[in-house]
Amino acid sequence: MSALHPKTTPAELGIDTLNDLKKMAISPFPTHYAVWFSHLEKANSQLSTEIERRVNTGAHISDKFLEEVYERYFPTPDAGPDVSEYINELLDQTNTVQQISNSLHSNTELLQEGLTDATVRAETECQTPAGAETFVASLISTAKNAIERNEALERDLIEASSTIVRLKSDVEAMAKDANTDFLTKISNRRHFYKELERLIKAAHYDNSELCVVICDVDHFKKFNDSYGHDVGDQVLVLVAAILRDNVKGQDVVARYGGEEFAIILPNTSQKDAVNLANTIREAISRRKLVDRATNEPLGSITMSFGVARLSPISSSESIIKDADAALYDAKRAGRNRVRY
Ligand code: GH3
Ligand code: MG
Ligand code: MG
Repeated sequence: MSALHPKTTPAELGIDTLNDLKKMAISPFPTHYAVWFSHLEKANSQLSTEIERRVNTGAHISDKFLEEVYERYFPTPDAGPDVSEYINELLDQTNTVQQISNSLHSNTELLQEGLTDATVRAETECQTPAGAETFVASLISTAKNAIERNEALERDLIEASSTIVRLKSDVEAMAKDANTDFLTKISNRRHFYKELERLIKAAHYDNSELCVVICDVDHFKKFNDSYGHDVGDQVLVLVAAILRDNVKGQDVVARYGGEEFAIILPNTSQKDAVNLANTIREAISRRKLVDRATNEPLGSITMSFGVARLSPISSSESIIKDADAALYDAKRAGRNRVRY
């Protein structure tokens, strides 16, 4: 299949995707298209490994299999911004690419037929120099027409693929806005839940570890009362930056509520999650805060952390509840600590 011949441009990948789906008798739905495109593009190594594993065992790639992969690797649709208009336009463009691909095939076939026909005609028509001349002229014009048709199709193809690339980045920008906390620019609570559902499903599927950390600024009300809400906001931005700087790869950092943050750590043991929480806790408590406007020292803040790990029976609700309970323990035990 085309996976053996990595291509470079989106248009080529798009055509390969459609051809592969056709070969495998998969309906060309956007979800199937998205999964296979992503596989050929090698955009996500885990996704490709999963598909290759399936192909290597000789198992059939079915609509259902691709839908399951989609659910595990792509954000689920939700009540975010209305992207249906974009999706329809994207579908139109996908159809255009499909039609162009079909036309390219039939053009090649037409040219081949013309050439086969010509070899038969050559014997009778090339008896005289004038006959041969006419024959060659007609051959040249057949080839020229084919080239012109293909050039026009190629222009259409380039236009369609640049529209697809534009639509893709528009949709991505909209999705990003809907998922981002306005103040701190990290994920918001909505995105956190979506990602938690998705990553828990994936962890249950491949039996991997996953932890959730919930943390809350200690005595933040007092801080706000002393220095004002705007300064408090700046501290929240700083906390978000420290959290973000301490995670990697697939980890998700989100603002969970007012002065409460949450982190999803896929493929992470409880021990590593507790260590990471302690590293962050120390980084925050060490930080000397200064009012940007006046240079006035504002002391420092501390945070309390609750860590929970996924068990075979946990759901997103239960793991949050466990992390929350651990956070409550940390607060009760005197704050500025990690509990699990
Ligand atoms: P604890 O250690 O028990 O968490 O004490 P706390 O004072 O942090 O907790 P409490 O829940 O009583 O108060 C939370 C405070 O966080 C209330 C509010 O002043 C502040 N806060 C919540 N959201 C924001 C925000 O967006 N900006 C600012 N500046 N402050 C916020
Ligand atoms: Mg607090
Ligand atoms: Mg709180």
